[in-house]
Amino acid sequence: MIGRSHIVLGVASAATASAAGWVPFSLATLMSAALGSLAPDLDTERSMLGCRVPWLSRPLSRLVGHRTVTHSLAVPGVLALALIGWLGAAGLYSPFGGFLVGYVSHIVADLMTGGCWALYPLARGRLALWPHAKTGSFREYLLLLFCLGGLGYMSYLCLVQNNRPAFLQSATGSHRGRSLPKHHMAFIA
Ligand SMILES: [Zn+2]
Repeated sequence: MIGRSHIVLGVASAATASAAGWVPFSLATLMSAALGSLAPDLDTERSMLGCRVPWLSRPLSRLVGHRTVTHSLAVPGVLALALIGWLGAAGLYSPFGGFLVGYVSHIVADLMTGGCWALYPLARGRLALWPHAKTGSFREYLLLLFCLGGLGYMSYLCLVQNNRPAFLQSATGSHRGRSLPKHHMAFIA
């Protein structure tokens, strides 16, 4: 997926995550998500972010190659654990959380556009998912529109109908009228 598409998808994912109550809805969160959606491609100097920091992307590219270690779900996983260790679970409800959402959106998008090492270090090698759209192709454009439609629908369910799908239930819980278990109260305090 090309850089612009990653940004659009990352920002849309963060907006949906904020509708679900996972991250705050703010400019800082959306900008962090945009940065996170470009960060995995620091492993190539031909990317939108990588070409701006060739002193980093060039050696990284030589060291690990493209769409490998930086495209593992373990990276946002470790960052999330580090964040929780540093600031507690409430640390995820911040622009840092938006960065992680953007990062994950990049990996999911690359899974559908050629594949990447999403499960590294559990499994080496590229994992690819349908619809196998080629980067920069019309099919990628259609995929992006489809994803945006899905995210928009999920946001609608969360915001308008207040009928959050089970997989969007979050620890931060609903801030909109539903009672929360006591141990979740600390997240939004
Ligand atoms: Zn990538």
